[in-house]
Amino acid sequence: MSTATLTIDLTALADNWRALDRLSDSETGAVVKADGYGLGVAQVGTALAEAGARQFFVAQAEEGLALRRALGHGPVINVFSGHMAGDAELIRSAELTPMINSTEQLLRQVETLPGHLFGIQLDSGMNRLGMELAEWAALRDIALAQQPSLVMSHLACADEPDHPMNAAQLSAFREMTQGIEAPRSLAATGGILLGSDYHFDVTRPGVGLYGGLPFADARPVVTLDLPVIQTREVAPGETVGYGNSWTAAASTTVATVSGGYADGLLRAMGNATDRAGLYHDGQRLPILGRVSMDLITVDVTQLSEVPDRLQLLGTTQTVDDLADWAGTIGYEVLTGLGTRYERHYRR
Ligand SMILES: *Cc1c(COP(=O)(O)O)cnc(C)c1O
Repeated sequence: MSTATLTIDLTALADNWRALDRLSDSETGAVVKADGYGLGVAQVGTALAEAGARQFFVAQAEEGLALRRALGHGPVINVFSGHMAGDAELIRSAELTPMINSTEQLLRQVETLPGHLFGIQLDSGMNRLGMELAEWAALRDIALAQQPSLVMSHLACADEPDHPMNAAQLSAFREMTQGIEAPRSLAATGGILLGSDYHFDVTRPGVGLYGGLPFADARPVVTLDLPVIQTREVAPGETVGYGNSWTAAASTTVATVSGGYADGLLRAMGNATDRAGLYHDGQRLPILGRVSMDLITVDVTQLSEVPDRLQLLGTTQTVDDLADWAGTIGYEVLTGLGTRYERHYRR
């Protein structure tokens, strides 16, 4: 079988949630949008609920339904995109809590689902989702009279602790929420690390749960092992892969492994010996030539025996390392991991 194996360590995931929980006195939620950052919302959500998470966050109502099916009644499932047209029945039946982003959404909510829980999302400067100051000022009393379950906002630069935007958004959020009784939430992973000023009542970590930066103390959650399909000797002067982009300077043993850009293994990470490698027993094996759709070619000359599988992601090379090589962020590597892997959930 040439299917690669993606192993997801649910114990490490739960440990990461507990570690982030210890960093604040607030209630710690869990963001499981985009199918649990690509790792499987049912398995990830269940493991986090077992660890103690009671507030979950998804981007879209449909994701909330998938999570509700996995978790059953009880845990709160908040939806960042709020209440979109046509979603009332889904929100009601899956017991979702929309984070209301606008006057239009608030009207839709109270007209179609009177008495149903909702939260409020405020824009404290990111200009992406939520009500701005003027809209909120006009709506505040009406909205608060309905007793929202949460009032939240999101930081644009929390992964840069010294960025002045953090303090600016903190003060905007404080001003917008002064004197309200509803629980408040501002911090995602980065915000938790900024310290207690940013914690409020509920935190919303995502990427740190899955082993990604900016939570540098996270345990890695994913391991990716790619099967070796074929091995060959390449003589000096011969080339490897598309575009002849790598030429052997010396006799080289080349292994071809199963996995490529169709599996989310970005082309940009390969094709330079100083970039991403594969690993065996801690030895780094450089990628040779371009990453293809389904295949990667690797220099295994230094190995006395070529194993059945080589490791691309694990404790030695993390999602953030791969992201660095490819000029992107760990979030994109995680959520881009494809559907062809055989997934193992380890506890
Ligand atoms: C994605 C997201 C989070 C989680 O962010 P991380 O950086 O992954 O911790 C929290 N809140 C909102 C509004 C988000 O969109």
